[in-house]
Amino acid sequence: MNDSSDLARRDLAVVWHPCTQMQDHESLPMIPIRRGQGVWLEGVDGRRYLDAISSWWTNLFGHANPRINDALKAQLDRLEHVLLAGFTHEPVVELSEKLVAIAPKGLTRCFYADNGSSAIEVAVKMSFHYWRNSGQPAKRRFVTLGNSYHGETLGALAVGNVDLYKEIYKPLLMDVLTVPSPDCFEREPGESWEAFSRRQFAFMDMTLARHAHEISAVIVEPLVQCAAGMRMYHPIYLKLLREACDRYNVHLIADEIAVGFGRTGTMFACEQAGIRPDFMCLSKGLTGGYLPLSVVLTTGQVYEAFYADYATQRAFLHSHSYTGNPLACTAALASLAIFGTDNVLGNNRALAAHMDKRARELAQHPHVAEVRSTGMICAIEMVKDKAARKPYPWQERRGLRVYRHALEKGALLRPIGNVVYFMPPYVITPAEIDFLVETAASGIELATCD
Ligand SMILES: *Cc1c(COP(=O)(O)O)cnc(C)c1O
Repeated sequence: MNDSSDLARRDLAVVWHPCTQMQDHESLPMIPIRRGQGVWLEGVDGRRYLDAISSWWTNLFGHANPRINDALKAQLDRLEHVLLAGFTHEPVVELSEKLVAIAPKGLTRCFYADNGSSAIEVAVKMSFHYWRNSGQPAKRRFVTLGNSYHGETLGALAVGNVDLYKEIYKPLLMDVLTVPSPDCFEREPGESWEAFSRRQFAFMDMTLARHAHEISAVIVEPLVQCAAGMRMYHPIYLKLLREACDRYNVHLIADEIAVGFGRTGTMFACEQAGIRPDFMCLSKGLTGGYLPLSVVLTTGQVYEAFYADYATQRAFLHSHSYTGNPLACTAALASLAIFGTDNVLGNNRALAAHMDKRARELAQHPHVAEVRSTGMICAIEMVKDKAARKPYPWQERRGLRVYRHALEKGALLRPIGNVVYFMPPYVITPAEIDFLVETAASGIELATCD
């Protein structure tokens, strides 16, 4: 028995894996990884896999990035952790200064947590608490978009709308107002992205007009609804939403957990609409994909509503044990330093254009309904009936066939339902993109041939 199958066997005896029907592993091999280098993961058996999805959208500058490694090694000998209540440290101060400097103007305060879902909980609680502290306790409901995803903890699940994750737990969740998404896959033939996103905004405006008095915040994933299958929309929607939130006196929460740090072509997706949300949630790429960390940036106005004598009970008494961990903050600083010295967004423009151009070759396929891109995210949507845009039934698990095929070819593609997508680390080369597109093409051929 080689090391790889031995590890897989031991794993399956004691580990319960995330987002997995464990029974699948009766036929699907578990893949032990021993090392990562740039865009490549190396299995214990020596096989290599191109990490086309950045290990769940976290990695920016490759595995074992020498600059992030060096920064972490140095920090490790100084301070691994200290509580962030009453104490502080250089990495968290410097990171906060840097985030405030690059975030949309007016986001001047950083509140930390240690994963994306927790950042959503923080933003939701802060918004609710803000209105309470401001003498408007009736404003306690949240508005979310169809097919949105904001994480798995109960509050984050409640403000999301992907049935696959949410349906079972509905009895445990707070009630929210759900508005149809501006997702441009649903547009009419010949209709532009902008026209469709504008048209869909009417639903949002109606909901705000009717319920503003009881609404705390609207929460959105700017430009790309990633977990819904990389569904995309036009920035005009965000611009209209910002104006409406101001008009109706409602907070805007931008969940940039997946799309922040250059994924959509700009540092933050909100920039493409020229807007400043009241809360911006960041995680995933924040540490370059190294360590768990998340942050909610908010305005001075929100901060001030909590600032008062202790006895007024206005403080935000929320914490996590590892809030602002120095190692995680150091990884984030090292990652931001790479943005500072290398022409990351400029280089990404060329890579994204190449990825989009090559992937578009698949648009002619009889079972591909659409190839779409926003920055460094590129998605290929498989359908059963191209003319009617009728999806394959989810039970057929067509995406899983692509997944298996890609692993054999040496690529980690992990389709979401019928959507095959690329969201690679920014250190990928054009030749590696070509390899991914060829692998996806043969995988889609195989997955749709019957
Ligand atoms: C991944 C994700 C989250 C949740 O982050 P976790 O760290 O997995 O809890 C929230 N929102 C969006 C948009 C995400 O992609």
